[in-house]
Amino acid sequence: MSTISDKLGELRRQIPSGVALVAVSKFHPVERLMEAYDAGQRLFAENRPQELAAKVPQMPSDVQWHFIGHLQTNKLKLVLPYVSLVQSVDSLHLLEAINRWAFENGRVVDVLLELHLGAEETKQGFSEEEILEILRGEGIGSEPGNLRIRGLMGMATNTDDMAVVEKDFERIETLYRRIKASGMDGFDILSIGMSGDWPLAVRHGATMVRIGTDIFGPREY
Ligand SMILES: *Cc1c(COP(=O)(O)O)cnc(C)c1O
Repeated sequence: MSTISDKLGELRRQIPSGVALVAVSKFHPVERLMEAYDAGQRLFAENRPQELAAKVPQMPSDVQWHFIGHLQTNKLKLVLPYVSLVQSVDSLHLLEAINRWAFENGRVVDVLLELHLGAEETKQGFSEEEILEILRGEGIGSEPGNLRIRGLMGMATNTDDMAVVEKDFERIETLYRRIKASGMDGFDILSIGMSGDWPLAVRHGATMVRIGTDIFGPREY
């Protein structure tokens, strides 16, 4: 059986330089995260606020954390002090709450907007039109001066049918390139691809992949 270090090494050989590898460590104990840390991994992501807040103080301070789960506005203080990027902003309400928190705490928070892709089991995310409206500043009550929208995140349909997954990636890639072509400042992250589908995501322009199972093995729920 290969170790976490072996698996990370294998992934790093395969993933092109310029594509960030986010180690999705949800549901795994800190000892396993430390194995990845000792193999050089510094970028980790969690999807539950309490779990993130519990792990942060147990890991070295040079770890960079991302949040990738559904975030309720009453949980912001468990998450925003610790993360360098919220990848999973999926409502205007959340976007505005993050902006307000950031203003009150003298911070600028980097976020990705989540595009709703075909995944039937998650209704999470914005439509293309909603994302374009947000970027035009429409529907946002206050000036989002404490937010930096750095790009898009998407989760492809959960299926073995790679043709369906590819359609999802094509959709998000098209939107990403369209926004980039409009010259938006600092918009440079396309976060797509997980354990089953990251090579396809890379072929569709991913600048960041989020990999859990292929590093840590199956999660125990
Ligand atoms: C769990 C999760 C991943 C990683 O999934 P794996 O299949 O284990 O690689 C990626 N992105 C999000 C949003 C997740 O919740």
